[in-house]
Amino acid sequence: MKAAVFHGKGDIRVDANYPMPKVGDHQVLLRVKACGVCGTDVHIHAGAQGATDCNPPVILGHEFAGEVVEVGSAVSRIKVGDHITVNPNISCEACDACRRGDVHFCDTMTATGVNHDGGFAEYCVVLEKQCHVIPDSVPFEEAAMCEPVACCLHGIDLSNIKLGDTVMIIGGGTIGMIMLQLAQLSGAVRCVLLDVNENRFPLAKKLGAELTLNPAKDDVPAELRKHGFTDIRVVIECAGKAQTVMDAIEYAGKAATVMIFSLTEPDCSIPWMPFAAFKKELTLKTSFVNPNTQGRAAQIITSGRLNLKDLISDRVALDDINEAFKPGLRNGKTVIIP
Ligand SMILES: [Zn+2]
Ligand SMILES: [Zn+2]
Repeated sequence: MKAAVFHGKGDIRVDANYPMPKVGDHQVLLRVKACGVCGTDVHIHAGAQGATDCNPPVILGHEFAGEVVEVGSAVSRIKVGDHITVNPNISCEACDACRRGDVHFCDTMTATGVNHDGGFAEYCVVLEKQCHVIPDSVPFEEAAMCEPVACCLHGIDLSNIKLGDTVMIIGGGTIGMIMLQLAQLSGAVRCVLLDVNENRFPLAKKLGAELTLNPAKDDVPAELRKHGFTDIRVVIECAGKAQTVMDAIEYAGKAATVMIFSLTEPDCSIPWMPFAAFKKELTLKTSFVNPNTQGRAAQIITSGRLNLKDLISDRVALDDINEAFKPGLRNGKTVIIP
């Protein structure tokens, strides 16, 4: 089969004769139809680590969907022909963390597309328990976004949005745009989005942002006051810079929740002013991957209530995968079509 093999920092090579994966008893073989390029893939490609450690050579790609072409002997729930979206994370279900339900803190967690061969290939094997069936009516490239939606959903679950709330999203990339929509589905009725890239504002408006501000240009506190955004209950930070994390704390209202969702550089730090947090009685939260949220994410996508179509900016053939890792292409979500 054809596969894009990651050999180490900056080195992905397409191999037309990669061995077909063998299907274990509890596994299914997918014909990959679409696989999103995640920020994590870009980080790993640049030599950093993802949520779990990566040991090349391996096929990256953990945001994918496909059609089942073969099932193992012990597979009971999934059938040949099913359309599947995959939860890439594999937990042991036996360690203390798993048994208390924190499967994302599994002592031995591994991930398809990081430690095991993933979706930047024509075929991929996954465990039956990683599979969520989606109706044939859902386009594969949208189904492939189930994993980022599931990660966002975990962040939303932890953000404590209440019906009627005002929410600020910092960062209008793919994740910020998903968060903007999920915040509204969770009950937020007023949303403001901050980004230094104003090209993102028309889409943010289309997806429900009432106000868009450019912190590099606008006087954000004055604009917030002018438009009556004086009681921001939840801030979801999706930009990953020290400044944006500090902005999140600054713009949060009284008794607000600040969700620092982004992946910052590992050595990123901010000056911490506990007095400012004390005066506002802030709750600071972070969110890690997608524990038990993949099924709900699949349901939300199936319901059609998320606009994912407009978030996909680039479709790249597997042969041209290196194009997807060039800086500058990624205006939105890039999807590899094997
Ligand atoms: Zn991802
Ligand atoms: Zn475990």
